[in-house]
Amino acid sequence: MSAPPTSDGPSAPAAYTFDNVPGYEGTVAGGGGGFLPPPMPSFPDPSPQPEPSQAQWNIPSISEDTAHEAFVLYASSNCCYSSAPAKDGMITNMEAFNTYRYRLETFTESRSTEWSQKPYNGEPVDAFSQPTPGPWDIAAQAPTFFKNSKEVIRVPYTSSMKNCHDCLAMGRVPCKNCCGAGNKVCWVCNGSGYHHEQIRCNHCSGRGRESCTQCQGQGAKKCTTCNGRCQLLVYINLTVKWTNNSSDYIVEQSSGLLLENLNQVTGKELFKDARYMVYPVMGFPDVNVVSAAERLIREHQATYSQTSRVLQQRQTIELIPITKVIYQWKGKSHMYFVYGNESKVHADNYPATCCCTIM
Ligand SMILES: [Zn+2]
Ligand SMILES: [Zn+2]
Ligand SMILES: [Zn+2]
Repeated sequence: MSAPPTSDGPSAPAAYTFDNVPGYEGTVAGGGGGFLPPPMPSFPDPSPQPEPSQAQWNIPSISEDTAHEAFVLYASSNCCYSSAPAKDGMITNMEAFNTYRYRLETFTESRSTEWSQKPYNGEPVDAFSQPTPGPWDIAAQAPTFFKNSKEVIRVPYTSSMKNCHDCLAMGRVPCKNCCGAGNKVCWVCNGSGYHHEQIRCNHCSGRGRESCTQCQGQGAKKCTTCNGRCQLLVYINLTVKWTNNSSDYIVEQSSGLLLENLNQVTGKELFKDARYMVYPVMGFPDVNVVSAAERLIREHQATYSQTSRVLQQRQTIELIPITKVIYQWKGKSHMYFVYGNESKVHADNYPATCCCTIM
């Protein structure tokens, strides 16, 4: 009698089980394949955007009180810092280094397919009963723009029933723990039935073998691939993925505050433009922003329109406030930054970082 191969649990369907579905020829099992280039998009003619109004580019700056409060909050949020420098320090100078952040978001949809399987539970088997709709013809849910999400859809007219390859349609596979015997050598007496010469083994009552606990002595277990149903439903899954691809450009400034600090804060929104395809901003006072917009729009076009369908783009310009604050404490000069709408503080060398020893 030849036993079916032991199963390690669910596995990808064997190649012989695949049908050849027109329009889905590259589809494989187990992911990684089935990349589907979108059909060529039709470009509508977007009207040129209005120029952002100059009045909005004014640079705000924070008050001394705001700078002071932010610094006290900063010191108290670091549990070991003494609050004395923040509370008693005298602000001697404040300088603005406000900068711009340009952000381009390209919201895309991509589609891929793969052969999938599940235990057969009496579902309708519809393969080839009608022509299969193309991968980009299948309706998916309406996505929320600029939010990542995903939907998996069983492609209509690709489902068929196959014998389970893991158990050869028997619904059961031999137990690996006991090699299909249903029992194994007693671990207490190591098979002798006795220990210390003449004392009978309690664990196996002297039989030398014990029943296999993993299969309850049956020698076989339910096949996990088909869940004991003997048959599988094999079909093509279409995965629709919505991705927001975002790129930032921040204009370099000379305050000494590193740019990565600015990733944690928001700025004042000066300009926002969302449409199917955006055009580079024009007429913005900072030429760095204009050229970054041109470059990023070109890069996103090249990167995302080949492999996915662009659904919407959005560009924003924020003004991020940065204030460099100089203050005196115990006769020495120190410095910190207050930045972002959140008035976040960065201080490289806070003068009293351990409240237990200083004071
Ligand atoms: Zn024993
Ligand atoms: Zn067993
Ligand atoms: Zn099976």
